[in-house]
Amino acid sequence: YNSELQRSEKMEIISQLAASVAHEVRNPLQVTRGLLQLLDERHEVKEGSENYYQLAINELDRASTIITDFLTFAKPQMEHVNELNLADEFKHVEGIIVPLANLQGGRLEISVPRSLKIMGNSSKLKQAIINIIKNSIEALEGSGVVRIWAYEEREQVVIHIADSGSGMDERILERLGEPYFSNKTKGTGLGLMVTFRIIEVMQGTLEFKSQKGIGTEAMIRFPASRFVNQTNAKVSV
Ligand code: ADP
Ligand code: MG
Repeated sequence: YNSELQRSEKMEIISQLAASVAHEVRNPLQVTRGLLQLLDERHEVKEGSENYYQLAINELDRASTIITDFLTFAKPQMEHVNELNLADEFKHVEGIIVPLANLQGGRLEISVPRSLKIMGNSSKLKQAIINIIKNSIEALEGSGVVRIWAYEEREQVVIHIADSGSGMDERILERLGEPYFSNKTKGTGLGLMVTFRIIEVMQGTLEFKSQKGIGTEAMIRFPASRFVNQTNAKVSV
């Protein structure tokens, strides 16, 4: 019996399970949050004492963020590797991220031509891209722009995600992707860990360039689908 295969079957089962749990857990979290919000509005908090409702709401939000960083697009179905048209994937991503940008401030400019195709799992790819763009929007701190463009170059599809946000110094840059590494009060430090892992499994690479006070640019490279040996395409993350 091939133990590599057994291992990837186990990973597949785990990621299926995680996706189902995420779906099941999200709703009760939202309902509980709503009820706490109501209680919070009805009860006056005494001067100088802690608002336990608000603390509870913050903790629920934290749980939701962890699910979001891991499982925004998780589907409790078999994960297939397909040929993906990058423009279609970005259309879907745009639908999620534009409302977020409108809420937090900041503009998005997306320009992805229809000709670009890569191999991968659509949900995972979108998860990876969302995590990068979410960081960019958060780095804008209310104003600025996130520019996204893509092209093909030497058998590779190259995607750039550049923001005019707060930027990072060298010390932070070298720790990106480390589990639980976060500089945000409400961060999970899991977003980029997940993202690096997904891109690696898709035989891609992710690099960051950044300048403090000027902005950050992420560059993703995937082999263009027509150069991928399709029988070698891996299934699960
Ligand atoms: P989180 O967003 O929960 O903090 P991530 O793994 O997504 O965790 O990111 C880790 C850290 O990397 C962030 O806390 C932030 O300090 C830094 N970072 C990531 N992307 C950017 C960006 N576009 N601009 C500035 N800092 C960033
Ligand atoms: Mg993040």
